[in-house]
Amino acid sequence: MPPVFKGVDDSGNSIGTNVSFWKAVAAGSKDASGKPLWYKKGIDYWDTVDATDDGVLGGYGHVSSVDAKENAEFLRDTLGDVLEQRRAGTRGPLVACDCGAGIGRVTSSFLIHEFDEVDLVEPVRHFIDKAEALLGAGAPARADGHVVKNFFAVPLEGFEPTPERYDAVWIQWCVGHLTDDDFVSFFNRCASGLKTDGLIFVKENNAKDGFVLDTEDSSLTRSHKYFMHLFQDRLGWEVVKHRMQKDFPQELFKVRMYAVKPIKRAG
Ligand code: SAH
Repeated sequence: MPPVFKGVDDSGNSIGTNVSFWKAVAAGSKDASGKPLWYKKGIDYWDTVDATDDGVLGGYGHVSSVDAKENAEFLRDTLGDVLEQRRAGTRGPLVACDCGAGIGRVTSSFLIHEFDEVDLVEPVRHFIDKAEALLGAGAPARADGHVVKNFFAVPLEGFEPTPERYDAVWIQWCVGHLTDDDFVSFFNRCASGLKTDGLIFVKENNAKDGFVLDTEDSSLTRSHKYFMHLFQDRLGWEVVKHRMQKDFPQELFKVRMYAVKPIKRAG
């Protein structure tokens, strides 16, 4: 039997298991295109939020520099060989994809320093427009020549990466919007977007156990065990490394970084 996880809503009321929860979302109201209203509620929420660091981080824009610092350390600890090959000139341009990118905070504070090219995926129009204004073709050229190439205005559940384009797919503070089934199919599509030695990174809040529903932005905070279940049992992937973010404000959820990759099967 696969493990099941018990959920609570944001007032602490019990709301059953992940299995019954996602069943109810799938069986519930749909938008005009037939997608669960779950997704529209998420977009409707973010449509009302300021296109600023404080907006996308719920008033915690000031954690951005310590966030970026640990992202860079985690990248070095997991993709260090690839970064080194690039530095040594034995490897071509490095490419990353920033998923659920908001206004491009993760790209501007971290990814663009490490990768020659970055693509952004973000479904909320005023966020991706702001990202493009800050980082697109009209922005001043960077001394290191790194560029933000593509601004994809689509949600993760609709994103189809170009095959074998990315050394890293970075997914931070947005995957709670995906249902378990869409999580699995999104990661499988990302796998085809990875170069052979590429990695997928997830940085997310961790609930203490089970999951916590956020009724305001229509997302779910999964526990570490729940993430491991999705990576290992549902996807059958390897969790290369994971560790907690340090030095974030105490009152926040714990935050964990994961580096994961598909397990290559012989034949
Ligand atoms: N990763 C960014 C933004 C975090 S805020 C950062 O760390 O700064 C959460 C982001 O998820 C918002 O930009 C929101 O628009 C986006 N989002 C919401 N639903 C989404 C979906 N279905 N697919 C992709 N992104 C989504």
